[in-house]
Amino acid sequence: MNRYELTIDPRQIPEQVTRLITELVEAGYPTYLVGGSLRDLLSGRPAHDFDLATAALPEEVRRVLSAYAIYPTGLKHGTVTVVANNLPVEVTTFRSEGTYTDRRRPDEVRFERTFAADAARRDFTINAIAYNQYEGLLDPTGGYDDLRSGVIRAVGDPRQRFAEDALRILRGLRLAAELDFTIEAETMAAILEAGSTLSCISAERKAQEFRRFLVCEPRVLRRLWPESRSVWGEVLTPIGAVSPERWESITAAFERIGADFIVRLAVPLISIGISSDADDAATLRRQLVLSNNEWLRLKSLLEAHNEEYPASRYELKLLVAEYGYELLREWMRIEAAMVAAFGGSGRSRTEEQPAWEELSRRLDELEEAGECCTAAQLELTGLDLIELGMKPGEALGQCLKEALEAVMREEIPNEKSALRRWAKERCRGLC
Ligand code: ATP
Ligand code: MG
Repeated sequence: MNRYELTIDPRQIPEQVTRLITELVEAGYPTYLVGGSLRDLLSGRPAHDFDLATAALPEEVRRVLSAYAIYPTGLKHGTVTVVANNLPVEVTTFRSEGTYTDRRRPDEVRFERTFAADAARRDFTINAIAYNQYEGLLDPTGGYDDLRSGVIRAVGDPRQRFAEDALRILRGLRLAAELDFTIEAETMAAILEAGSTLSCISAERKAQEFRRFLVCEPRVLRRLWPESRSVWGEVLTPIGAVSPERWESITAAFERIGADFIVRLAVPLISIGISSDADDAATLRRQLVLSNNEWLRLKSLLEAHNEEYPASRYELKLLVAEYGYELLREWMRIEAAMVAAFGGSGRSRTEEQPAWEELSRRLDELEEAGECCTAAQLELTGLDLIELGMKPGEALGQCLKEALEAVMREEIPNEKSALRRWAKERCRGLC
């Protein structure tokens, strides 16, 4: 087994994690920091979710660490969560995995006594390194070198590893995007061969990986698309059809719109003409497992794209009434980014009309001025009209509607006295 000089600053590891390692090691159980947090620390990124791997069986972990709150979060797979000074730490017994018949979960797990045996069941070499303050780095699969040279490489035979668990296909692509790594050739070939087996994986787990992929750095997404698009098409069918040329523009637009998943998602969907129609909507919602809120936002963004360009303040206010300020701002950001990236977003805006950035500024002005765009903001209420002698009913509703329209068109100010005067005059015949 290779050993390396320490390359992480031990002070980056939370003191509680070091303490848990000490307690288990002093009780006679080799224990290490492993997985994503170690990978991230070694490559100078902030770490989260500290995972320990240990020779201790779950009951032994419980006995040694009895002073802590311990939760049996994955007992069948040898995992307990220990909460040390408010920090939850997953502690998993070294294990190997039996055969996989469903491409998702091993039929059985066997507890092991060494990290080398445990490393063999992990997905990628960069995720199969271990560290503790006594032994430094343990690296039975060459993950340290891969981490240094920015390579995602499957542990063992990549074909077999993806056949065992198809989710690893997406984890590999997502990690390459998050870390800006390349995928080793054999691993990449196996990813492409195994792409269609993703049908065995739940939409939810696939969608989670896609979400993390789509919000990565646009430059990296651009580089990875030609080789990975067919695989992402297994997660979200329509996206698989996006050509590398189109993706170039899409990712150029991403550079201008930040990293919100729903806002980003709207760009390729608009670009390939996906709408909020029943069929497309059903596919999107099912494959991406969107929450109601997310779907409403996405649907509104797709619908806003089909609105007429608001040529006047009044039309802009109508859009505010329909979509709200926040969503309109997101929409305008998308349109502006698509104009810049595609040389046109497919939206009709004439040369004389202000650019999207200017429109967005006007929108801010409307909001800052507290302009009335909805019935709720109107200073005239049904009660006012009743006081003026109107009876509740259709005519009263009509009068309020007309008042709102007149205020939105800025024919009358949104002030109670002026509105009551206007109503008295206007609605006299309706009382
Ligand atoms: P992140 O937390 O950023 O998603 P991670 O690599 O830490 O990345 P976790 O799901 O937290 O991912 O898993 C912790 C470790 O467990 C991984 O680093 C890897 O060693 C192992 N692992 C996770 N999922 C798999 C898998 N599907 N197949 C094999 N090993 C896995
Ligand atoms: Mg993790």
